[in-house]
Amino acid sequence: MSPWKAAHVGDHFDQIDTPALVLDLDIFERNVKCLQDALAGTGVRLRPHAKSHKCPDIALRQIKNGAVGICCQKVSEAAVFVDAGVQDVLITNQVVGAKKVSHALDLAARARIGVLVDHEEQIRAFAQASETRKVKIDVYIEIDVGMGRCGVDSIEQTVALARQIEQAPYLNFMGLQCYHGSAQHYRLPQERKDAIAATCATATATKAAIEKLGIKVERITGAGTGSVMLERDSKVFNEVQAGSYIFMDRDYAANQRDGLDLPFEHALFIKSAVLSHPTKDRAVVDAGLKASSVDSGMPAVWGRDDARYLKASDEHGALELTVDSTLKLGDAVMLIPGHCDPTVNLYDELICIRGDKVEAIWPIAARGALL
Ligand code: PLP
Ligand code: MN
Repeated sequence: MSPWKAAHVGDHFDQIDTPALVLDLDIFERNVKCLQDALAGTGVRLRPHAKSHKCPDIALRQIKNGAVGICCQKVSEAAVFVDAGVQDVLITNQVVGAKKVSHALDLAARARIGVLVDHEEQIRAFAQASETRKVKIDVYIEIDVGMGRCGVDSIEQTVALARQIEQAPYLNFMGLQCYHGSAQHYRLPQERKDAIAATCATATATKAAIEKLGIKVERITGAGTGSVMLERDSKVFNEVQAGSYIFMDRDYAANQRDGLDLPFEHALFIKSAVLSHPTKDRAVVDAGLKASSVDSGMPAVWGRDDARYLKASDEHGALELTVDSTLKLGDAVMLIPGHCDPTVNLYDELICIRGDKVEAIWPIAARGALL
């Protein structure tokens, strides 16, 4: 850990040391409200994904604004949020291995916890451990709705798993996880519509087949920032899991939006500074790939058109400058990360600003919680 803090509460924006992860609170609050308002009165619940922020301060604000709980991707991540007082966590992942199963049940003894399954062995492990410990846990079957990651891809198999879950006294069968991750980043609205329409057809047919056995499918959950309004209007989903909407990264901004898409704005920035200006057409900032994840492309330079972020190495970001660029050594350069989730995971703290003042510093407490 660094011996110094990038900023303290009350500092002026200019005093924030670099590189630092900066959250603009006014914009963040608008994004939170925007999605919550869009869901109000629809009967569709918001269970935002906390893997985007890994920050209990944010989760508790989302819940205060109407979210029913959160999603996590890892058991250890969920533990951080339960410790912070979150009472309802869906782990949107398969949990495999005796240690992890036991840790998930530890949490289920303290809060409402859900897990995903897509194989009979996962169900057997949870059925045995939950019965031994007399701890109930929610179980959802993950359906592969087209992204080709985890998930069952046949209705027959899903029906068999639902029956197996129903027979386990301490497993509470909740419904179906139908998240289409690739569709989030399809650039054209029509491509996203087609993918989610196909997702809904699969979910509907699967639900009907399970309910034919007399087993209730209470929840159909999924959706991310790129498609959330489609699931909202689907009449099939009754819960959505968007995560990145609070921050909006460069990759999401590259999606073409239509009238239905919500006007989320960039709220998350990396404050960087020029540490070298070796040639007229090149400056180098102190934020490289250890300061901004580049898996979805380079960060964007925010608020100036005389510089473009060309390439990242570990600790350096090379900017290509226009001939009339005014950028000088020491100048601050605000960057929009290409992909918010892995970028947040690089920092210990979010420096929260309102206007030009540091209003709060929020620990990214679940940073690095990979188990
Ligand atoms: N649900 C699941 C299962 C995910 O894996 C993700 C992100 O990858 C999300 C929801 C949230 O998506 P986004 O951050 O794109 O809104
Ligand atoms: Mn992501």
